[in-house]
Amino acid sequence: MSLMKTRSVLRRCAFLAHRQHLAPLRYMFGPGPSNVPPRILAAGGRPIIGHMHEEMFEIMDDIKQGIQYAFQTQNNMTIAASGSGHTAMECALFNCVEPGEPVLVAINGIWGERVAEIARRIGADVKTLVKTPGGYFTNEEIEQALAKHKPVLFFLTHGESSAGLVHPMDGIGDLCRKHNCLFLVDSVASLGGASLFMDKQNIDILYTGSQKALNGPPGTAPVSFNDRACKKMFSRKTKPVSYLLDMTHLSNYWGCDGKPERIYHHTGPVSGFFALRESLAILAEMGLENSWKLHKEVAEYLHEGLEGLGLKLFVQDKNLRLPCVTTIAIPVGYNWREITQYVMKHHRMEITGGLGPSVGMVLRVGLMGYNCSKTNADKVLVALGDALKHCHKSKV
Ligand code: PMP
Repeated sequence: MSLMKTRSVLRRCAFLAHRQHLAPLRYMFGPGPSNVPPRILAAGGRPIIGHMHEEMFEIMDDIKQGIQYAFQTQNNMTIAASGSGHTAMECALFNCVEPGEPVLVAINGIWGERVAEIARRIGADVKTLVKTPGGYFTNEEIEQALAKHKPVLFFLTHGESSAGLVHPMDGIGDLCRKHNCLFLVDSVASLGGASLFMDKQNIDILYTGSQKALNGPPGTAPVSFNDRACKKMFSRKTKPVSYLLDMTHLSNYWGCDGKPERIYHHTGPVSGFFALRESLAILAEMGLENSWKLHKEVAEYLHEGLEGLGLKLFVQDKNLRLPCVTTIAIPVGYNWREITQYVMKHHRMEITGGLGPSVGMVLRVGLMGYNCSKTNADKVLVALGDALKHCHKSKV
């Protein structure tokens, strides 16, 4: 690029930075990211300090404690990966699985598909248990598959955000122990919104993201490993494929390896950590049980209202509906894209269509953390009611 062109690009950037329409206020009522409350925005806006400063290590220690509370675990090996939920997903797989090892992945929406894809890329021998979106796996089905495939790791999504399903968790960790495999769980779309007990439910590796019920900006991803997982990942024959996500380094960066000195590994997202600390503090102040209760109450209120509009919920069994992300069967005769576009244009509100295997099946509404209130549920109902009146409906 010539010097003249570079100058003109820079001048245009400075101009655009002042134009609010590039970052407008929106109701973020899709499956995430959620709106970030002022307290977390303010924390993220604090002046930058060094990623290796003493104060930063204190903040990281607070984050570790906050994650331990949110996950209900005492695991020492608890960190926040630098990146989105996918980073934690890859961190878990890259460290705990070696090439050629058998891995069993439960697929009932996009997240199992994604994990299977990542595991294949690292050369794992991937076996799958598959249901259509909205389906779930019984403990008998899981046990049969564990006995058949003898995997080193079993993956399950707790809150399947593409299908709107919260998976029952009791007993699965015990089955994994019985069959000598690690239990890896994705709680990106459920943490803080649906009950989950890492230690009591014998989950060996658990991860989440910052941008859903935690209401942080996207970009940090809590992940925790128990002693079983540590034993496996620290006795590998091969090095993990990723240097950035190698837990031998990250455990030192997070002060989890017992060594007196922390050595530079990568520059962590300082502002993201400030924000994450505040997110976790807010969750701890509110209390997990209150947060779970609130999400359930608001989801039920929303579900009643949606049925009042003549809409059908995608997940039939009330107990399997994920309180954080509600899936609505696309109303007959409507084009889902027109509905989401209408709601964005006329109500400044994000709701989305499906994802992966649920595309064309569902609309998705997420009311998480700070966004989780009956007032916001009413806003969704008004916007959807309006869309149903004004969007094109074909004769069926
Ligand atoms: N797992 C689940 C259940 C999710 O809902 C998401 C995000 N939609 C992810 C993983 C991936 O997270 P991220 O987009 O932050 O990488």
